[in-house]
Amino acid sequence: MAARSVPCHIRAMHGSPHRPTAPLIDPFQRPITYLRVSVTDRCDFRCQYCMAEAMTFLPKSDLLTLEEMDRLCSAFVARGVRRLRLTGGEPLLRRGVMGLVRALGRHLGQGLDELTLTTNGSQLARFADELAEAGVRRVNVSVDTLDGDAFRAITRRGDLPVVLDGIRAARDAGLAVKINTVALKGLNEDQILPLVEWAHGEGMDITFIETMPMGDVDGDRTEHYLPLGDVRRLLARRFTLLDTNERTGGPARYARVEETGRRIGFITPLSHNFCESCNRVRLTCTGTLYMCLGQEDAADFRAVLRSGADDVALSAAIDAAIARKPKGHDFVIDRKGAPPALARHMSTTGG
Ligand code: SAM
Ligand code: SF4
Repeated sequence: MAARSVPCHIRAMHGSPHRPTAPLIDPFQRPITYLRVSVTDRCDFRCQYCMAEAMTFLPKSDLLTLEEMDRLCSAFVARGVRRLRLTGGEPLLRRGVMGLVRALGRHLGQGLDELTLTTNGSQLARFADELAEAGVRRVNVSVDTLDGDAFRAITRRGDLPVVLDGIRAARDAGLAVKINTVALKGLNEDQILPLVEWAHGEGMDITFIETMPMGDVDGDRTEHYLPLGDVRRLLARRFTLLDTNERTGGPARYARVEETGRRIGFITPLSHNFCESCNRVRLTCTGTLYMCLGQEDAADFRAVLRSGADDVALSAAIDAAIARKPKGHDFVIDRKGAPPALARHMSTTGG
């Protein structure tokens, strides 16, 4: 079946499957079951809150090969990671990415519960069918506005109709789509209600995200910081929001809209409300593992992989990294004009 077929060039890299070993538990007794992987730092958009207009991307030689990514992700799956999310940059822009998706798809039902993707949607029309064939069941697509001109302004180069076509193609291929929207004061406040009406009308959940102070972008990010408390108040004027206790081990809190029956998620990374249940770690496209989105401490897995580590040594390196996972993050955004709390961009760590 296509979902399980592994390209020879990837299979040849690591031969036998990893031996199952102990699950990963961090020093605060949190099981680590979710790995987010940035497969590229490159993107065809330059969203104002995410990137500067003139970005310098990493030289290709710095990136993990897709074979190295597969080996590393597979090692995490062997250690109990049950969800993998590919992100970026724009994951679907990495050349050969479908080979990686198909390769990782072989773990589905064999320890891995879910293989998913966060995408800007620009390439979805092209890849939707292949993603579904590889075993992907859900994708998150970022849409900050339904106004074409505002979309172009926020993304600096995105084309809304192309993204909407991509979403349609994904749904036609049988993928569930969740919409991600960054709440931006002065840029998309007027779109909050239309976005919920559209998403729920189409049968898609939507999650709002507060801007996080990551990486230098042109201009002052605090200018567009819109607390989600304001978004919620705006929504409550139109909808009946019923709080739920549903959690996905991530930072989102969910409310169900009585009128539509669907969910709205709220991701407020600047509050500490989710660290205690954090189940995730993040791998950059260069093989750096960040144990916390909001801390600088990281482990260099490219060095481990390129030192010729065997599966046992790789597994030991994973243990050593997880043993350093901190209790929580240190984001601050309320100091006007202050430099970003973290120098790296979200596109490097992968959202
Ligand atoms: N390019 C893909 C996309 O846009 O969905 C995947 C990568 S993007 C970095 C992942 C998510 O992070 C997107 O939903 C994006 O809106 C969000 N994001 C990027 N920079 C952010 C920031 N500084 N604060 C909050 N969310 C951010
Ligand atoms: Fe690209 Fe996603 Fe960042 Fe926008 S948010 S610039 S689409 S990586």
